[in-house]
Amino acid sequence: MSREAEAITRLAENFSERLTQLGASVDLFQDPKFGTTLRARFNQSENPDANQLLVVGHLDTVWPLGTLALRPFRIDGDRAYGPGIFDMKAGITLATFAISALQESGRKTNRPVTFLMTCDEETGSHFSRPLIEEEARRSYAALVLEPPVPGGTIKTARKGVGEFELIVRGRSAHAGNDIRKGISAINELANQILTINQLADFSRGTTLNVGVVRGGVLSNVVAAEARASIDMRYQVIEEGRRIEKAMAALRPLLDGAQLEVKGGINRPPLVRTEKIAALFAHAKELATEMDYDLKEASVGGGSDGNFIAAMGVPVLDGLGVDGEGAHAEHEHIIISDIARRATLLARLIETL
Ligand SMILES: [Zn+2]
Repeated sequence: MSREAEAITRLAENFSERLTQLGASVDLFQDPKFGTTLRARFNQSENPDANQLLVVGHLDTVWPLGTLALRPFRIDGDRAYGPGIFDMKAGITLATFAISALQESGRKTNRPVTFLMTCDEETGSHFSRPLIEEEARRSYAALVLEPPVPGGTIKTARKGVGEFELIVRGRSAHAGNDIRKGISAINELANQILTINQLADFSRGTTLNVGVVRGGVLSNVVAAEARASIDMRYQVIEEGRRIEKAMAALRPLLDGAQLEVKGGINRPPLVRTEKIAALFAHAKELATEMDYDLKEASVGGGSDGNFIAAMGVPVLDGLGVDGEGAHAEHEHIIISDIARRATLLARLIETL
């Protein structure tokens, strides 16, 4: 088990203890590579047989173990800084606050409530996806604790995400003596990258980013191998499928070069359905009772909410604490927003 996986497992055990104290029955699902995903079921519901409300967060962050020692938690005015605080330690903590507040004030929830805290969201949820989908199947709606758009705006639509790896194989040769006997995998890859960039369709929200390229060994050797990692974002499923097809149809331009394409669609898009619009209208009403104006937006980043929405279950995403700098060094939350968001979350959990 990696050091990160061990640390995530410790965190899951810590939350498990707190949630058990709050009356949940908790199950832990362990994976040697990714750590531990936690599922907590609460049943203080008025309607124990109704479809459940699912509350989803993730325990992992993008930061390697040890980052906290380099950039320790600190408070500066109304801001609290720390690696992973915005995405999304604050969000999962908020959920435990919300449940304990409902219990302390003796309020029942409208439905049974299940928390799912996954261990591998930042790497694509390959381990947790079946657990997420299993819970989604039993759910009326899902609340996702990802950070909001800075300003507190919640997310009612998200693009889908795909990942590809393109591997090019050529033939090595001495760059001085035998260059024409070689087949440059790098030249072939350069051509392919131009083709891949042309697959984007900004008017339909489809983008491609060749984010990493690697290849060759030395400047005086014709490169025998080169590879590229490619990120795809898309708004409608047909577009994701179009790109998958086009990637599979790539053909080498240089005689003797070979292409191999791996990967494809990972997260389907979170499309703003009527059910999602109704869920947002309800949240907005609750926020208005609290005297604040809740806004919604569509974003390019994916989350575990994408898997849930793709199953026809409405999702409200971005319910974490306001702040800024997800995946960045200036990552922080706004302290004065904590109580307000916890109240909103508690009211949603109570009333949905
Ligand atoms: Zn996140």
